[in-house]
Amino acid sequence: RNAEIAMLRAKNHGRNRFNHYNRSMNTVSSDTLALESDLRHALERRELYLAYQPQFIAASGLLSGFEALIRWRHPKHGELGPDKFIPLAEEIGMIDEIGLWVLRTACTQTVKWRQQGLHNITMAVNASLQQFNSPIEFGDLVASALNETGLAGDRLEIEITESLFMQDIEDTCRKLQRISDLGVKIALDDFGTGFSSLSYLRHVPFDVLKIDRSFVNDIGKGIGGSELVRTIINMAHNLGKSCIAEGVENLLQEQFLRENGCDFLQGFLRGRPVPAEQIEITFADLFSP
Ligand code: C2E
Ligand code: CA
Ligand code: CA
Ligand code: CA
Repeated sequence: RNAEIAMLRAKNHGRNRFNHYNRSMNTVSSDTLALESDLRHALERRELYLAYQPQFIAASGLLSGFEALIRWRHPKHGELGPDKFIPLAEEIGMIDEIGLWVLRTACTQTVKWRQQGLHNITMAVNASLQQFNSPIEFGDLVASALNETGLAGDRLEIEITESLFMQDIEDTCRKLQRISDLGVKIALDDFGTGFSSLSYLRHVPFDVLKIDRSFVNDIGKGIGGSELVRTIINMAHNLGKSCIAEGVENLLQEQFLRENGCDFLQGFLRGRPVPAEQIEITFADLFSP
């Protein structure tokens, strides 16, 4: 395992060319430098953890699975969300290492929960654009995480965003197909918020369309908002895909989504992202005694 991480580090060395954050020396604050040095040790110090947010079958309300969302328990700054450190991890070439840790941890947790009675659950894991552009193919990390943990491929879902389709589409499709060939499902996250054209939907191998929470938020706010969501659900189904809505915060949204055939629901209304121990308490009656 250490050898593997050393290999990741070596491969990442000198990746700054691929930097999306054009960092000139005089714009880097001492805060950022301190955070960067902290992040380099966060994994070994066991400061990173995954929060799990439940997903439900819309029609029945039954638990269908979870999305894994990374958190950093920073000794000084308290809990930091991914927006505070994932871009930094990408910038300093740590994203492969963290991404592999996320995959391993999420897969291990899923295997454990399935053995404990949640037999049918799936686990969704986020992957960023940078992770697909790494010299280490993301599909290889997925394959090794599945191998190591013994999780069946069809229990794992990888969430990607449209930003992937802004670049070489053939290359992106090849990489996604490789993941898909493992039986792993591909979900299009934040659907509808990017700037890519809809034509990519015909070419890209994906299984699940994830309706962005900005659209869910518009449900009930004038006819336009609701119609858009209805149209996205129908489009997903017409393409033979399933769809999940994120950011479901109230009963009106839930009822609308259920009535209009959305397959799965996720949001604060039914469950916030929480550590694994909390999931085991909340869903105690689903676990075998
Ligand atoms: P995302 O994939 O769109 O994740 C959903 C975000 O919405 C999460 O924020 C979640 O806490 C929040 N959320 C869930 N339900 C509701 C709701 O009902 N209302 C509202 N207002 N928000 C809700 P979080 O955890 O801060 O994650 C932010 C982003 O960071 C994620 O957006 C994802 O793109 C990224 N991220 C999280 N974990 C990872 C990871 O392991 N790897 C990578 N590469 N990115 C990650
Ligand atoms: Ca996501
Ligand atoms: Ca999202
Ligand atoms: Ca997002």
